[in-house]
This record gives sequence, structure tokens and C-alpha cells, in this order.
Amino acid sequence: MHELAIVQDLFKLCETNAMKHNATKINKVEIEIGRLSGVEAHYLQSAFDAFKADTICSDAKLIIHPKDITIKCNECGAQSVLLENEFLCPKCGSNSLDVISGEDMYLMRLEME
Ligand SMILES: [Zn+2]
Repeated sequence: MHELAIVQDLFKLCETNAMKHNATKINKVEIEIGRLSGVEAHYLQSAFDAFKADTICSDAKLIIHPKDITIKCNECGAQSVLLENEFLCPKCGSNSLDVISGEDMYLMRLEME
């Protein structure tokens, strides 16, 4: 049900943006999902398609881009992108890391009419 709450937020966000731009229709929604957000792109896509009918996104296509996890090492200060779910600094091997991005969902782009 996590995904359902997210698409409903997403629809709201789309409506707000459309109103700002005097758009009546949204054709494409592009979002980024952090690999650490716990959101399943597949479920999010289904939820979007299942509930878009009564929203401004009724004809919109959802494009999901997975976002890599960027960390900053507390030991050596290096910023790196983690490609695997291994929480070690690639530079020095420390596991004292701060996640800089990859935890959230971001709206990247809307195509409106
Ligand atoms: Zn390090």
C-alpha cells in the first residue's frame, strides 16, 4: 500500500504543477526513485495505471528512473556512488557512511498540454 500513497501524492503534485502552468492534461510523468527508498518500480507503475483515470494524469505515461545511492564517507570524506547494496566506502573500506541521495522519490519532468 506504500506505493498507492506515493502515486496519490504524485497525482497531487502533477495537478499543482499543471495548474501553475495552465495545463489541462499531462502526457508524461518522469520520476526518479532512489534505490534505497523501498519503492518497487513495478508496483508503482501498476498503481499509477490503476488510479490515473480520474486524475489529470488519465492519459499520462509514467517513466521511472532508478537513482543510484550516493554516499559520503565519514572517514576519508570521499563521495561515491554505491552500485551494489554493500555499505562500504569504495576508497577506504569504512562503513561509516552518510547517504546523500538515493533514499527518496523526485519528480523530474512533466510533459503538459
Ligand atoms: Zn572512505
